[in-house]
Amino acid sequence: MDRREFLKGSLAGTAAAAGLVPAGAAADATKDKAMLKLSSQENKIPGKDLHEKATKLRQWGAVGIELFRQHMKDPRAVNEALKDTGVAVSAICAGYFGLIDPDKSVRQKGAAELKDVCSAAGEVGSTGVIVVPAFNNHKQLPPKEARAVLVEELPAIGEHAAKAGTRVLLEPLNRKEAFFLRLLADAASICRDVNSPGVAMMGDFYHMFIEETSDLGAFLSAGKYLHHVHLATGVRRILPGQEPRDYAEGFRGLKMIAYHDYCSLECGVQGKAEEEIPKAFRFLAKQWEAAAA
Ligand code: MG
Repeated sequence: MDRREFLKGSLAGTAAAAGLVPAGAAADATKDKAMLKLSSQENKIPGKDLHEKATKLRQWGAVGIELFRQHMKDPRAVNEALKDTGVAVSAICAGYFGLIDPDKSVRQKGAAELKDVCSAAGEVGSTGVIVVPAFNNHKQLPPKEARAVLVEELPAIGEHAAKAGTRVLLEPLNRKEAFFLRLLADAASICRDVNSPGVAMMGDFYHMFIEETSDLGAFLSAGKYLHHVHLATGVRRILPGQEPRDYAEGFRGLKMIAYHDYCSLECGVQGKAEEEIPKAFRFLAKQWEAAAA
């Protein structure tokens, strides 16, 4: 048994035996039942426009679509395209804004841009705006200073996001892409210290496979701050089910924190999307069922 397997067993066993509610879970949220709300990034779905893609996603069993930042130039067009499709905007994949750049003027410009994206994201009813503090190739403050700057500067952005009806979602990556912010627990601790309803976080099964010792433990650490999840396999970053990767342990964690937000595909597709994506959704629904809360 490796460390990962050991943690799976011991964490689940301990929590179940003690009837524990994870520390980060809001007391009222735990009364509610968790839901698997499937979504996909827009570019995985064949179709000539957003309306066609959303319609296809709904037919395949999904209820969310994750959009890229450029759509936030015209939120009204997004609302028009998704009207009557039964599909909502799960998140805006926005990426980098220079939030931990050593140059204060770069950080200020990035914060202003992020606020603008949050305004538009609120208009389309998005759960949040996904933000990566810095990729490895970006200029950035050393980790300790970077964290301090985030805790200092995120409250104002969070207040703006919350007023707009959305939130910033910090995304931990893996060390090949970003050294700063790799663990869900670290992101949760930043959210805790920022203490704003407009600042939350997400988890990505691909990065988690590389960085976390336990999917279950990572989601429990994230608790009430977790508001989005990315789905992919752990090695080749392809559709769930296209290479061995367990989701039931992570899903068990999501059930324990009464997770209500979306789980969204961010991965490559091997084969024909029309066949393989519905197959992946069916596989994920089975994994969700297999995850005992
Ligand atoms: Mg991701």
